[in-house]
Amino acid sequence: MINYLYQEQNWQSQLSNLITDPQELLNVLDLSQDQLLSGAILASEQFKLRVPRAFVNKMQSGNALDPLLLQVLPHHLELEEHTGFVTDPLGEEAANQLPGVLHKYKSRFLLTLTGACAIHCRYCFRRHFPYQENLPKNEDWLNIKQYLEHQPDVNEVILSGGDPLTLSNRKLALWIERLESLEQIKILRIHSRVPIVIPERLDEDLISLLKNSRLRIILVVHSNHAQELDAHTCSKLFRLVSENITVLNQAVLLKGVNDSAQALIDLSYRLFDARVMPYYLHVLDKVKGAHHFDLEADQIDKIYTEVLASLPGYLVPKLVREIAGEKNKTPLYGNPTL
Ligand code: SF4
Repeated sequence: MINYLYQEQNWQSQLSNLITDPQELLNVLDLSQDQLLSGAILASEQFKLRVPRAFVNKMQSGNALDPLLLQVLPHHLELEEHTGFVTDPLGEEAANQLPGVLHKYKSRFLLTLTGACAIHCRYCFRRHFPYQENLPKNEDWLNIKQYLEHQPDVNEVILSGGDPLTLSNRKLALWIERLESLEQIKILRIHSRVPIVIPERLDEDLISLLKNSRLRIILVVHSNHAQELDAHTCSKLFRLVSENITVLNQAVLLKGVNDSAQALIDLSYRLFDARVMPYYLHVLDKVKGAHHFDLEADQIDKIYTEVLASLPGYLVPKLVREIAGEKNKTPLYGNPTL
């Protein structure tokens, strides 16, 4: 019944009615306020709680260890300092060429058009990123265009987080049109968690915009657990695939959330139900505030070895770490100490 209610609401009203108060979140889930140990409120002031009600509805009421809840509930451990856990773990400041532009890899170029996300994931490697100083304005397009024209190897633009699907279809259409005007750009990749947390975002206008572009569109969604992919979410994702839009998934391996081979196997099969192909399984980026999600290298190796032995190759995501300054993501299998 409650799910049905959210399906009746358009994505904009869902986005403007997020849960942002940790105490409200616990009330909705019938959990005691004792879950908020001292420090959690301060953690939530530093990186605000944001979670769509439709996503909360996928959580199990009364379960303080629910894998979806653990991804969003502020935790006092976020305040701890740990060696090697820093505010810019991927060295993105150095790759920030122009407002909104991150150029890390030879053929791909990343554009952040908004600092807003529908959900705040506590492990996010960009939780300290200074978006507000770094968003491209309309007049910055000419500089971006000139920059791209001097980078002939770039044939793919990636719209990334903040989450590009928090933008209106009108604004997305404007940027897609700009990118289409550059002959060198062949592929547009959109990285977004919104289709998982507010599936109504995949509305007919967006689908029409994507399927009618001259660019080859790839949507990379971000789901970490099979429980995030209920029948309604899967049907929305399948609708995109049936319009010949490539849909892939990236996940992050997180202690307490999906740190077992079975959780990852279930995730891959669930994605495949929606015809979404598993793409990357990232190990945690060492961002300040996320140490409590980290796993030891031998645990990661054990889990991934079991995943490899259990799934057909096409359902096994590539286990990778992003290392600042490297020319590509670093594959980890067989190299767990990296
Ligand atoms: S950028 Fe992605 S991972 Fe980070 S908070 Fe936003 S949705 Fe979550």
